[in-house]
Amino acid sequence: MNILIIDDNEIDREVVKRTLFKANIACSFEETNSVDKGLSMLRCKQFDLVLLDYLMPEKDGIELLIELKNDPLPNATAIVMLSEFEQEKLAIDCLNAGAQDFLVKSKITASQLWRSIVHAKVRFELEKRLVESYQYAKNLSEYDALTGLLNRLSFDKARQIAITGLPRKKMIALVLFDIDNFKFINDTYGHLVGDELLKQIVRRVQGSLRGYELFARLGGDEFALMLSNIERFDDASMIAQRIQGTFIKPFIVENNSIQSSCSIGISFYPYGNNSSEELIKYADIALYRAKKIGKSQICFFEESMQVKFVKNFKVEQDLKLALANQEFHLEYQPIYNINTNLICGFEALIRWSKNQTILYPDEFIPIAEQSNIIIEVGRWALKEAISQLSFLKSEGYQNLKMAVNISFAQLSDLGLVEFINGCLQEFNVNAEDIELEMTETALLSEYSTVNQCEVVHDLNRLGCSIALDDFGTGYSSVSYLQKFPIDRVKIDKSLTVNFEKSQTKKLIHALVKMLCSLNIKITIEGAESKSCIDFCQSLGVQNVQGFYLSKPVHPTMLLELLKDKG
Ligand code: C2E
Ligand code: CA
Ligand code: CA
Repeated sequence: MNILIIDDNEIDREVVKRTLFKANIACSFEETNSVDKGLSMLRCKQFDLVLLDYLMPEKDGIELLIELKNDPLPNATAIVMLSEFEQEKLAIDCLNAGAQDFLVKSKITASQLWRSIVHAKVRFELEKRLVESYQYAKNLSEYDALTGLLNRLSFDKARQIAITGLPRKKMIALVLFDIDNFKFINDTYGHLVGDELLKQIVRRVQGSLRGYELFARLGGDEFALMLSNIERFDDASMIAQRIQGTFIKPFIVENNSIQSSCSIGISFYPYGNNSSEELIKYADIALYRAKKIGKSQICFFEESMQVKFVKNFKVEQDLKLALANQEFHLEYQPIYNINTNLICGFEALIRWSKNQTILYPDEFIPIAEQSNIIIEVGRWALKEAISQLSFLKSEGYQNLKMAVNISFAQLSDLGLVEFINGCLQEFNVNAEDIELEMTETALLSEYSTVNQCEVVHDLNRLGCSIALDDFGTGYSSVSYLQKFPIDRVKIDKSLTVNFEKSQTKKLIHALVKMLCSLNIKITIEGAESKSCIDFCQSLGVQNVQGFYLSKPVHPTMLLELLKDKG
């Protein structure tokens, strides 16, 4: 048996060792004279027992017990307290603090010490098992045994707490989902397969979450997710679509390939419902409606949400076909040098011709951004714009630049840099002539990953300029002007159209001054009047874009425009 003796008195330590030696008990000893040293020895090594002196100069033995109680060791050990004093209260305090036995030093005999050690070890094992079974029972009451998710009881509690502490202007979404035809799966393959399927589903869904959602199994094949502190309805529909996405591939359970699906019902707080019970009731009603329509459906309890969701869903489905059907085209808005009154470049703006109507990007880009569609659409726009620039150059307009908008979601496209490089080679265009516009909200997104930030740097290394779009609408913080390799800032049209207001005028003035001092180039967009151009001139800003100079034009008009202004 390996025993650690913690006692500041060397003679007492010797006495203990000799007593055990006399009793013919085979022990090895390690010893130390203070609580702190004892604790660090316990942290690095497994002992079978600790003999702990009560009274020591810096910290007493009880303090060691308390520290161990608050920060338990993975290799916990039985502890026998030794004290010079025979006091019942002290003995009780030591036992309460976690010791398994208490001995008075002056009365120790070999057999008594040995008995105490054996008893302490037995008691320690019993206590350990008691704690484990308590923990097990607690887990049973809070977690679902099959999947390890929260159970209904703890989910209900968490829901109430979330509602009480909800900050203003934030929402809670409750997403309920339930496996389609689960009964059929259970009946066909048996309950063990059904259970395994549920476990696999949970694993896949967990893999698709961001980690801040509360995920619970409410019972059977019904699951709930709570998203708290969200600001947009779309956050919930995105999660719902991601959940459904995890069902696309069949599940393999005991050599059976099972194609499963789920129906989803969603409700929001505070929208029409005022309590946590209503939130779940409404999500339940939405789930019922989803099931009624058929398999693999998503329903919102709130009517307006449902309308918006169905509309977006339809757009998303159409978007998937739009590329193949060649329904996109780019228009080009000239950017002028107002000193020479000549065009120095263009911004490519995407348009979607759908059933004889032209859709503008605000109507479909946000939807494309929520799925991977934006990656293909974005690549298409880049290639198209680069080829257009190549064409204009071949017509003699060598100094033109082309600006292309890049969505935040496109930065997760790992092949983006390679793709752009390929287009530049194919059309023989220099990277320096391409400017990639990204919004500050995109660059600053709380979801932006190291990888996405890295892509911005890679694009810059490739030689493309990086422009910060819509400056003045978000945080407009100087810190990320330094964090990212930004060559140009585009001052947003929402500021420009109000330039006559004295406050805005001052603000634009200050922004321009600040950007100049950082050596960052400037484009002012949204110039709608002659007086605005004059204002830009007074600021010393050369590059201006806006309806006053030219609206975005169809590619067939470009050469004509350039004949006068190129
Ligand atoms: P943006 O980058 O701020 O683009 C400029 C928008 O301002 C364009 O709207 C343009 O038509 C409009 N505009 C230009 N001059 C004026 C003006 O004087 N007054 C006013 N009120 N507006 C002006 P558009 O084409 O509807 O594009 C909207 C947004 O969609 C763009 O905003 C851009 O963020 C995004 N977008 C456009 N094309 C693409 C694309 O190919 N890919 C991506 N990811 N986003 C795109
Ligand atoms: Ca832009
Ligand atoms: Ca802009």
